[in-house]
Amino acid sequence: MLVGNGKSIVNGIAIGKIKIYREPERKINEGIIDDPAAEVARYEAAVEKAIAQQNALYEKAVVEAGKDIAEVFLVHAMMLEDDDMNDSTKEIITGQKRSAEYAVQVGYANYAQMFADMDDPYMKARAADILDIQGMVLDNLLGLDSSSLQGTEPAILVAEDFAPSQTVKLDKSLLLGMITIEGSANSHTAILARSMNIPALMQCKEVDDSWDGKDAIIDGKNGVVYIEPDADLRAALTKRQQEDKAKEALLQELKGKPSVTIDGYKVRLYANIGGPSDVGAVVANDAEGVGLFRSEFVYLNAKEEPGEEEQFNAYKRVLESLAPRLVVIRTCDIGADKTIDYMNLDKEENPALGYRAIRICLTRKPFFKTQLRALLRASAYGNLGIMFPMIISVAEVRECKEILEECRQELLKEGYKVADDIEIGIMVETPAAVFCADELAQEVDFFSLGTNDLTQYTCAIDRQNAKLEPFSDTHHPAVLKAIKMTVEAGHRHGCWVGICGELGADPTLTKEFIKYGVDELSVNAKSILGLRKAIRAINRKELLGA
Ligand code: PEP
Ligand code: MG
Repeated sequence: MLVGNGKSIVNGIAIGKIKIYREPERKINEGIIDDPAAEVARYEAAVEKAIAQQNALYEKAVVEAGKDIAEVFLVHAMMLEDDDMNDSTKEIITGQKRSAEYAVQVGYANYAQMFADMDDPYMKARAADILDIQGMVLDNLLGLDSSSLQGTEPAILVAEDFAPSQTVKLDKSLLLGMITIEGSANSHTAILARSMNIPALMQCKEVDDSWDGKDAIIDGKNGVVYIEPDADLRAALTKRQQEDKAKEALLQELKGKPSVTIDGYKVRLYANIGGPSDVGAVVANDAEGVGLFRSEFVYLNAKEEPGEEEQFNAYKRVLESLAPRLVVIRTCDIGADKTIDYMNLDKEENPALGYRAIRICLTRKPFFKTQLRALLRASAYGNLGIMFPMIISVAEVRECKEILEECRQELLKEGYKVADDIEIGIMVETPAAVFCADELAQEVDFFSLGTNDLTQYTCAIDRQNAKLEPFSDTHHPAVLKAIKMTVEAGHRHGCWVGICGELGADPTLTKEFIKYGVDELSVNAKSILGLRKAIRAINRKELLGA
């Protein structure tokens, strides 16, 4: 038995024969040609066909992986229309009297190299996109059809790497798993594999041609592939695969079903996200909305402070992709454990109790207004909720709302469209907010309980300090009481109340939260269907002894 190790993308088990996926052999005419005009026409036809193919891949990927992930194919289609790249490719044909294939091979490779040499990791990654469209144009010119490469039997496909377009083109009914020698866990291929829930190992360096046709098992949980596994291992992993499949099938049946208790109490199940790239998981797991978009990731992923336009685009993409679902975007919650160089924040003795979140925003008004303007402009493209973090007083909420109104008036004057039904809420994550919940509820439309910080501040347990684990009780009665008090106070004043901290996904507390009357749970997307199953088995009236 041989063993390979890699970075696992999906936890599941794949059992089947290995098929080495080899790139088609592309024979390029490198000689001098007679009729450059005819070659230019061939090139243009091949590009046109590739654009149509990319658009078709987009449609397919929207269904299989969600609109946000599918967007890479629209980017490819745009790249194929790039005048500079097309002109310089045609220049090779007419100037050097070379075949269209040769011009694409050389011209596109130059472009890919140009991107690969850039410092910015995002731009660097675009080199792979150029090589992807290069392959497609070449196949069109050479009359090659890569769809036959997968074969006709279900298999675990092994390749040096898969381009996003190859991944989407694969026939999923024949795709048991994927193994690549290269590829990163953040590549579009990984994102696609994740959203299609196909066990995949990347950066598996032990791959060998001799694996072709052999029986294999990918154990995604442990990031291992076994080639010709022995009978005991096969039996154990087959059993685990069957158990996983049974669980998964049960959960899949819950897609599209309401998250409602036996006696009709509805709980909204939303997802927590960090940016546009998480939208696929929201759709794939049938989340009913987004209860927490941690917008600080937009800041953390940038080298310098993201401007209004950049933020607007990120928020708009999420809102548009998920409309008409509600998307609650939390304003920048920077500070404490989330530090950013360009923010020039001082080192502090007690950062968790320090200058963070709304405290930064309220004292750096231009910084705050840039985000609020971007959010308000994006509100025209979907169903937006805005949530302010680390609130401790009514005065803070009022000030946030005043600045928001100031931004709205500015934008309307400038001719922008702004939605007039944006829900406004706050994170309840400090004991101060819990004790003032009655007053705060009169200022906002919703509360979202940030139980991670609420636990930290209620129990005086630094959430970053591993040494305090023995003292930490995630089910501490004080935290549960604080949640109950907040729900009751919110409801007294017509405010809906959700939980967006990690506790929301804890299945051992679902009954308790339903008893309290929690309206929404916002959790990691993978937990949604499991929670829906739990909720549908609960009888709230019985729990309340009614
Ligand atoms: C929380 O504190 O529970 C929360 C959701 O916010 P974060 O974990 O981002 O601090
Ligand atoms: Mg928090």
